[in-house]
This record gives sequence, structure tokens and C-alpha cells, in this order.
Amino acid sequence: MVKITKPVCKICRRNGEKLYLKGRRCESDKCPLDPRKQRKGIVATKTSEYGLQLREKNKVKSYYGVLERQFRKYFSTAKKTKGVTGEVLLRLLECRLDNVVYKLNWAFSRRMARQAISHGHIFVNGKRVNRSSYQVKIGDEISVGDNSRFLEIAKNARETGRTTPVPAWLEVYEDEMRAKVVRYPTREEVSIPVDEHLIINFYSK
Ligand code: SF4
Repeated sequence: MVKITKPVCKICRRNGEKLYLKGRRCESDKCPLDPRKQRKGIVATKTSEYGLQLREKNKVKSYYGVLERQFRKYFSTAKKTKGVTGEVLLRLLECRLDNVVYKLNWAFSRRMARQAISHGHIFVNGKRVNRSSYQVKIGDEISVGDNSRFLEIAKNARETGRTTPVPAWLEVYEDEMRAKVVRYPTREEVSIPVDEHLIINFYSK
């Protein structure tokens, strides 16, 4: 399991935008980047093209909780896959199992989703999957184990957690902690504000 060891709020501060790395705190006014806390008169500093590319790449890595080596692998897979490389890259990241659990609102953060997966609480097509990087496919059914200790936590997260609706590419069976991947996410459904062209240019040198 990938662990982000840096204080996570620093990552958001450095990028100058909310990356939602800390669960419920991110939605509250405790977030240091809450608009109510923003200082006025901050002067933007000029950043080189390389700096912009590097920042955009690191932002996406932190957002999805992926290490450099893994991120490079995603990039090389995206390059070899038919379609627009940047869009394929984001789709691969969106289809990670930890992201799916988070998007289903079963966990307050991707970090919490990763923990639930590594502890064996998440099932895909009835089989336990303990790899956060597992790529979900169309038709896959994701669920929380019936006798899992995580079940109550996930229900609580769904009821009291983020207010963000579950994206349309995931179909939720409301009565149970079960969902199905009905299609792949489109570029518009990727919620991180990112210019993926900068990442492509970064790796294309
Ligand atoms: Fe910290 Fe979350 Fe706010 Fe980012 S969005 S600064 S992780 S509280």
C-alpha cells in the first residue's frame, strides 16, 4: 500500500488547490485552503514551463496516491493504448479500485479506501481483492464483505461523508453496499482540475 508520508495539507498548499487528501476535514472550514481562510494579496510567482509540468504531474500523483515508478507505468500503458494518451492516463487512474471505493462514498478519503482494500474488506465479482491498484473493468461488481468490520464504517461514510454524488459510470445498488461499473469514465467525469498535456510533455522529453 502506498503511504504518503509528507503532511498532506502541505501538498495542497504547494499546488495552491484542494486535493481532498484528508477525508472529512477537507470539506470543513478546518481546511487551510478553505476560501474563508484565504489571505488576500497573495502575489503569484512566475514558474518555468518545466516547473508547471512537474507540478501538474506531482499533483496527480498525490491526488491518486501513486508513487513515481507506478505513475510512469501508467503513462507507458496509456501511451501504448489506443486513444488520447492524457485521457487514457486519467482513465487508468480513475479506474483504480481505491479511487472507485472513494467515489462510491464508502470511504472518507482514498487513503482510507486503500486501507480497507489492503485489509481485505473489498470484493470484486465476489472475490476478495487486496490490491488498491486493481483496475476495474466494465461489468465488474464491487462490494464490501458481508461480515466485514468495514461494512458499518462504509455505511457511515456513505451517509455522513462527502456530498459529492457517485459518478454515472458507477451504478449503485442503494439497498446494499454493492455497485457495478457500467462504463469507463469520460474526461469530463475526472474531477481533478488538471492539464494532462503538461504531464505528457513532461514525460515526452
Ligand atoms: Fe488539507 Fe484536505 Fe484541505 Fe488539502 S483539501 S489542505 S488535505 S484539509
